[in-house]
Amino acid sequence: MDNCIFCKIANGEIPSATLYEDDDFRVILDLGPATKGHALLLPKTHAANLYELPDDLAEKAILVAKKAAAGLRDGLGSDGLNLVQNNGEAAGQTVFHFHMHLIPRWKGDHAGVGWKPGTLTDETRDEILRKVHI
Ligand code: 5GP
Ligand code: ZN
Repeated sequence: MDNCIFCKIANGEIPSATLYEDDDFRVILDLGPATKGHALLLPKTHAANLYELPDDLAEKAILVAKKAAAGLRDGLGSDGLNLVQNNGEAAGQTVFHFHMHLIPRWKGDHAGVGWKPGTLTDETRDEILRKVHI
């Protein structure tokens, strides 16, 4: 992908504050952090989103995320961490190269990663169970 900024960052063509790198991934600091240490995990090959991510990279990504989560916690002394991954504009994705957000959390930080809980009605539950086949 010639015009993908995260392809260029992941492959080192554009410099970034890199916390971790291996053959397949780079973990960098987000330029618009939700909290101190907010990092992004990027595969070095282009996939627009989770739907496009090859299975082998999907498997590896969670292991790198696990390593990065521990490194952030141990290095920054955070109390928790949100793993966030947006797919599609409707879900808040703004850069269309798969990435995972690793957002260190501290008690009372008010970073606002979350949602307002709705209600699962019996009708909606039944409809979803009928329609979704994973
Ligand atoms: P999305 O909304 O697509 O899930 O997340 C995109 C993230 O990438 C945002 O948190 C934004 O701050 C970050 N971002 C966008 N452009 C750059 C960049 O050039 N460098 C870095 N390090 N982060 C970026
Ligand atoms: Zn890309």
